[in-house]
Parts: sequence; C-alpha cells; structure tokens
Amino acid sequence: MQTDLLLYNAHIYTVDDTFSTCEAIAIDQGKIIATGSNADLCSQFEAKRQCDLQGKFVYPGFYDAHCHLISYAPMLEQVKLADATSWEEVLDRVELHHQQYPEQKAIIGIGWNQTKWADKSMPNGKQLSQRFPHIPILLIRIDYHAAVANNKALELAGVHAQSKIAGGEVVVEQGKATGLLLETAIAAVWLHFPSPSRDKWQYLLQQAEKDCLQYGLTTLGEAKIGQFHIHLIDEMQQQGALKIRFNCMVHAEEAERAIFFQQGPIYKDRLRVHTMKYFADGALGSRGAWLLAPYSDDPATCGIAIHQQEDLLTQARLCDQYGFQMATHAIGDAANKQMLDIYGAVLGGKNNKRWRIEHAQILDPNDLVRFAKYSITPSIQATHATSDMYWVQDRLGAARTKHAYRFQSLLQQNGYVAAGSDFPIEQINPLLGFYAAIARRDIQGYPEAGFQMEEALSREEALRAMTSWAAYANFEEAERGSLEVGKVADMVVLDRDIMEGEALDVTKARVMATYVGGEEVWTTDDGTFER
Ligand SMILES: [Zn+2]
Repeated sequence: MQTDLLLYNAHIYTVDDTFSTCEAIAIDQGKIIATGSNADLCSQFEAKRQCDLQGKFVYPGFYDAHCHLISYAPMLEQVKLADATSWEEVLDRVELHHQQYPEQKAIIGIGWNQTKWADKSMPNGKQLSQRFPHIPILLIRIDYHAAVANNKALELAGVHAQSKIAGGEVVVEQGKATGLLLETAIAAVWLHFPSPSRDKWQYLLQQAEKDCLQYGLTTLGEAKIGQFHIHLIDEMQQQGALKIRFNCMVHAEEAERAIFFQQGPIYKDRLRVHTMKYFADGALGSRGAWLLAPYSDDPATCGIAIHQQEDLLTQARLCDQYGFQMATHAIGDAANKQMLDIYGAVLGGKNNKRWRIEHAQILDPNDLVRFAKYSITPSIQATHATSDMYWVQDRLGAARTKHAYRFQSLLQQNGYVAAGSDFPIEQINPLLGFYAAIARRDIQGYPEAGFQMEEALSREEALRAMTSWAAYANFEEAERGSLEVGKVADMVVLDRDIMEGEALDVTKARVMATYVGGEEVWTTDDGTFER
C-alpha cells in the first residue's frame, strides 16, 4: 500500500491509554494510518519517504499549554534583561541597545528580576530618567506584573502621581511617581509605545515559531491574545507561512471579548479560539499575587485583586452562555479561592466544560478538592516551582509554602493536568518543564533531594501533561496528543529516551526532527539526523 511517510526502526511512545510503545508508524495525508512492528509496517507499506530512525525516540508533538509567543516575538528586537545581575547592568544594557538600534523611537526591555540581585529591593525610574531624558523607556519585570518607566515614558502616556488605574498601581513616593508600575498600570504606559508594523510582526512571528519548533513544540496555548494577532496568525497559517498550531485564549478585555462573544468560537485545523483569559491577581515575585493573609516579608500587603468578584462572576456567566471555556490566571490562595467560588457558582458540580485555572500556584488546602468537584483543569508550570523555590519562603513563610506548587495533588483531583512553560517568563524548551516536574530541581541539580518532592510527577505523568492531557484540556483528545491511528501526525524525534536514565539528562536531549500534520517542519541541519 502506498503512503506518504514511514518512520521505522524507532522507539515510539504512543502515549495512548495503555502507554504502549511500537517500532514503526505510517502516515498518509497528515494522519497516522498505522502503528506497529518494523516487520509488519515495512512489508505492508511503500512510502514516498521512508526513514530509518536507527533506534531514536519518537513522542507525540509537545504542547505548551500556557505560553506567550506574542510577547516573545517582539523580544527578539528588545533589550534582554533576564540574566542581568544588577540594576546598573540593566541600565548599561539599555545604553548598548540604544546605540545598536538608533532608529527605535522608544525602548522596551524585558526580563529583569531583582530577586537574583544583591540588592533585592524593587528598582525605580530615577537613574533611568537621568541617563535617558529624551527617549521613552519601559523596562518590564520577568513576570510582566511590574515595570519601571522613565519620565519620558510617563509623560508620553500621561501617567503621573495622581493617576488612578483600576487593577494597578503607579507607585508614588513623596508625592512623585517613582517610575515603578504594577499590574494594569504597565499596560496604561505600554499602549502608548509604537507597536511593530504588520510586516514586522510577520517576520517576528516566523522567527519565534522557529524557536518553538526546534524544541519539538507543535501546539501552543497562547495565553493572552487579541483579534489583530489571531487574524494575522490565521492568514499566515493559510499561506503556509506558519506551521505550528495555536490554541488561543482571548485576552478578555472589553473590546476583545465583545467581538469574540458575538462571533463565537473559531475551530480551524491549526487555529482554535474557544477560551477567554482573565486575570484574578498578579504574580508572586512582585508581591502582586493575592493572598488570604499578608506577605511574610511585607505584612502591609496581601497583594492585588484585579477585579471585583461580581464582575468576574458576570464574565463567567457570559463565557458559559456564549460557549467559551473560561481560563483565569490565579496565583495566590485568595485568587484561587475567589475563582473556585465563581466557577462553582456557574458550573454547579461535575461537568465537561474543562474550565481552567492558570498556575493554581498557592492553594488553601481546603480548596484542592473543589478542582474535582467542579471539574476544573489545573494548568501548571513546573519550572515556576524551581525558579521560585529560592525565595518563595520569604514571601509565604514555611507553612504556606507547603501549599504551593502542588502539581501531584492537583493531578489527583481530575486525573489530569495540562503543562506549560509560560515562556518568555521561563525558557521555551518544554523538556525543562518535564525535568522540573519529575525532579523538582534546578539544572544545577539543586536541591539534591528535590523541592517538596511529594508533589513531583512521574515521567509518564509529565509526558502526558505535555501531550495527551494538554490535548484533553483543549477538547482535542480525539485528534491530537497521542500517536494513534486517525490522529494527526504531530511528532517529535529525540536523540535520547526521556523516560529512562538520569533525570538531568532529559535537559540534554536534542530534538532531531519535528513534524506537524506529517510534514517535517524542523530538523537538525548538521547532518546528525541522517536517513
Ligand atoms: Zn502567562
């Protein structure tokens, strides 16, 4: 029998219900038509492309259930601050960038993280304004929940000490705006900055897509996106200019949700838009996560509740009415409690709507069971645990820290979790999340015994969370997420087996090839993937 593609002599993890493996897989017109032994498939099929994988390892294409390509793409031409070791270094990098890109009329920098510096206090805009008096500059924290603007940027946006911004804060000292902005105050300044042209966006998205395909990602859960980018992605996919699949969570601000509620969800082969994304609170690093009791290292605050309970309840009813899955960012235990109250009020009990809580990071222990009671999907980011573990006890104290990053406990509720990276907050490589989930250590191997190991996932669970369960969370279990007959041929070939061996070796795995719908969309170009 003729077929398009046959991969054989491989170790293939199908990630089907029984977690079976096989040696060969046949693909025709983008779909899997057979799986089985080398002998069976090689005698049965004559393929246009026949690949002897020489014992390499094949997995379903990886999902990132929660990420931000739309934030990542422009960063390719912004100041990168993630590994800056002090505020002085941040300022020096801005200077260098300004010299490198003299044509840019405003400067955006992303990724500073004061918890990694000797001086861990939040920075302000004083030196930034002194050194750069003439060009607007906005420097955004690694978690996007805090930023520093210079005076020129505040001026451009008309933001000042007296500005009242719902769901955010312009930090003021001695009657003056310091330049530090929290939560929605960041967007209030950012939206006045010039944005890339449509052509520039196309270029940036293609570059960003390459960075995803080379790590084996085939589906992105784009966790905050508006109609401009959704239509651009749709157009580029139809032209074949983008290959990766998108599950879009619409940024549920007023204008966007009005449009999508009216036109309804979108279901295309590579583009799904049936989720509304809300925010209940901020992030832990910048003390924006909304806690039931004050921060252990700042008793003056419990964090920020972004919306009124009634407003979110209204939104939940609208999502239900218009057939949208609701997804809400909730980090703090108060934010999670609020969302479980709201979801519970609308959903009533067990259901098949698969509404999501993004992060579900710190939980009142009594609230865990409500994930099962209302069939709520936990959307988890394992690398957040290993990025935060150095300072999380400062914020929460020892007792509360025990109730954070409870991935195994969350998995026990409904029998699945969806895993994502939240890049660009973390790195794109999904195997770093897999490693963090199973080992709960950083890539230096710290801490040796693992951080709160009782909440680790097994390798099978971690793989399911980034394949079949992530597909389930998005209602795609019938078509993607495992390598079974009838499903699309989204696959990744690795040079090593992530299901065996030293945990840390997982992070060294190399992607040899990535397939979307049976098409090889990325491969190592150094000749190591010989066939
Ligand atoms: Zn996110």
